[in-house]
Amino acid sequence: MEKPLVAAYNRVSREAREKLAETCEVRYFERSETLEDPAFRETMAEAEAIIGIEYEIDEAFLKQAPHLRIAANVSVGYDNLDLEALKARGVYASNTPGVLNDTTADAIFGLLLATARRIPETDRYVKDGRWQNTLPDDYFGVDVHHRTLGIIGMGRIGEAIAKRARFGFDMDILYYNRSQKREAEEKYGASRTALEPLLERSDFVCTMTPLTKETYHLMDEAAFRRMKSSAVFINGSRGGVVDEEALIKALQNRWIRSAGLDVFSEEPVPSDHPLLAFPHVVTLPHIGSFTEENENNMSLRAAENVLQVLNGQVPQDQL
Ligand code: NAP
Repeated sequence: MEKPLVAAYNRVSREAREKLAETCEVRYFERSETLEDPAFRETMAEAEAIIGIEYEIDEAFLKQAPHLRIAANVSVGYDNLDLEALKARGVYASNTPGVLNDTTADAIFGLLLATARRIPETDRYVKDGRWQNTLPDDYFGVDVHHRTLGIIGMGRIGEAIAKRARFGFDMDILYYNRSQKREAEEKYGASRTALEPLLERSDFVCTMTPLTKETYHLMDEAAFRRMKSSAVFINGSRGGVVDEEALIKALQNRWIRSAGLDVFSEEPVPSDHPLLAFPHVVTLPHIGSFTEENENNMSLRAAENVLQVLNGQVPQDQL
């Protein structure tokens, strides 16, 4: 019997591809391909599954993929998937929730520490040979311990960040979410607030919501104006959650102290982007979940979803 064809693209681990290859024909494309690429287009014309990260799967894409049964993201975020278009065509969609919580929380908390204590700037100071005397006061950082962290989007990753903040750094936690998170309240002493008081009271504000119509530009000019001028803003979710023009204004006018950004509205972020010109803004190339171990865990989880659909089941992480 002919094996079903699976298109794997952009960051699918070898182990996951080998697992899929036990029962499927797997064609692997190492980077995000476009439908202009003939080999990718040909594959999509026959493929029953696509597994990978970041490709925009919308109506135009689906028209070129008439046999598709599942689009399996190797990520927990799924703003690249047009769920309505997928549903209309009876194509399953899945993500990889849970497996990446601790890995991503480590990275985002690391970003918070790096921004507060200005670790990249002072690293550069040493490497540039400028450390001749006591560091000038201009390089002062701010304390993280015993301060207040406001988490916007207290989901799986938000809770893992709260755990680190509470038990590692004795922080007080505020959170803004549409639903109440009792476990986070009981375990980490988190208090639920409306968005405005969270912004006004937090020393660190960290966004961890998905990017949706509702959360698009949630952090706008009014939100940054509400923050303390001593506060640090961290974006670990998606670039679109932040109005970057407003963030630039907030930094220029010192409405906030600094920012740490793992994500941008355009990725890769253009090298002349104004946000890259602030020395005290820490910028990362979307590395939240980017560890060797986790890459494999997410790929395997996504592969399980593919195999479930190809075996006639509903995928465990159906969106
Ligand atoms: P999750 O468990 O679904 O958590 C998302 C939280 O956001 C939920 O608690 C949700 O609660 C809240 N939320 C959703 N819409 C909201 C709104 N309009 N206003 C306020 N709160 C809202 O997801 P997760 O696994 O923690 O992942 C969260 C996001 O992180 C992903 O979607 C992805 O975009 C991003 N992410 C980034 C990286 C990275 O590399 N930087 C890695 C992994 C994930 P309610 O629905 O009750 O409001």
